[in-house]
Amino acid sequence: MKIKPPDYILSVSPYKPGKPIEELERELGISDSIKLASNENPLGPSPKAVLAIQQGLDSLHRYPDGSGYYLVEKLAGFLGVEPAQIVLGNGSDDIIGMLTKALLNPGDEVVMTDPAFSMYEITTRIANAVPVAIPLDGIAIDLEAVLAAITPNTRLVFLTNPNNPTGTVFSKAAFMAFLEKLPAEVIVVVDEAYIEFVRDPACLNALDVLDDERVVALRTFSKAYGLAGLRVGYGVMSPDLAVLLNRIRQPFNVNSLAQAAAIAALEDTAFLAKTLETVHSGLDYLSTALQERGIACFPSQANFFLVDLQQAADPVFDALLKKGVIVRSMRSYGYPSYIRLTVGTRDENVRFLNALTEVLA
Ligand code: PMP
Repeated sequence: MKIKPPDYILSVSPYKPGKPIEELERELGISDSIKLASNENPLGPSPKAVLAIQQGLDSLHRYPDGSGYYLVEKLAGFLGVEPAQIVLGNGSDDIIGMLTKALLNPGDEVVMTDPAFSMYEITTRIANAVPVAIPLDGIAIDLEAVLAAITPNTRLVFLTNPNNPTGTVFSKAAFMAFLEKLPAEVIVVVDEAYIEFVRDPACLNALDVLDDERVVALRTFSKAYGLAGLRVGYGVMSPDLAVLLNRIRQPFNVNSLAQAAAIAALEDTAFLAKTLETVHSGLDYLSTALQERGIACFPSQANFFLVDLQQAADPVFDALLKKGVIVRSMRSYGYPSYIRLTVGTRDENVRFLNALTEVLA
């Protein structure tokens, strides 16, 4: 290529997508594999969402509603916020990209934790800004250390609650203390992709602190609502910030089927209840069963958890893969002996346990 791209673009390491399951199965000569790697909903999509998509197919020749009017109205009622506070995204990834694009000047600093969801760093670099990564305290976010990293150049802070990949949460009390010390001109994004799964009553719900205009809550339909393939997420924020993001939002960033499915999924309270029951009982079952087998795992408030294999995780990951059980090795996250496991259906959980027992034997 004759054109030399800017150095800050060349500094981006691209997001590494996994192989399609079908391709993996073909290469390994297996079928019937199970994927417990990407924190997806084990029950599939909400049946009501599927119906809404089927009903929307006849209108695919029309552009989507660029304002997402009905979905925004529905969300506002559901969340108890004003429609003017909501910005829709093509997944919450899209909102992360809008925030970094709209708020950062070249050289600004963005504080995030290490490890953290990779899109914070990628979008920061794309904006020619500087990611500042703060190690966790054990496996939990250290809000004091995050504060200590803030300089006059800091514009944005990304916090994940519950945290991915560790499953820990911070409390409302701890966050209020954090906000008190946060400089007035810094925006703090609380990424709540897994908030629906939380059972700890002390956990922060960022919607409760949105009267502080520095706070942005990020949510998604990809996890508890089972719509990862459709790409719908949203941010809830001050109306002023929402106006700013809407300046740079692609006008049709959320497609019409995604909008219809998201509305139906919000109405499908039975599906959400069944999802939470499946995840909570599966999490309890798996962690008890692993501990009974002498395998250490960490408590989690999300739909995934870390397992400490106390040996190199990559060979175990490969051996599980050959048995058709796909998990996530945590080596690239700085945890060479851990895997991250997404809670599956009861059958999938049993299959994982059996496969792991065989591999470790
Ligand atoms: N934030 C976190 C912490 C995530 O784990 C994920 C998905 N892996 C996302 C955001 C992105 O979600 P979406 O599918 O809405 O883009």
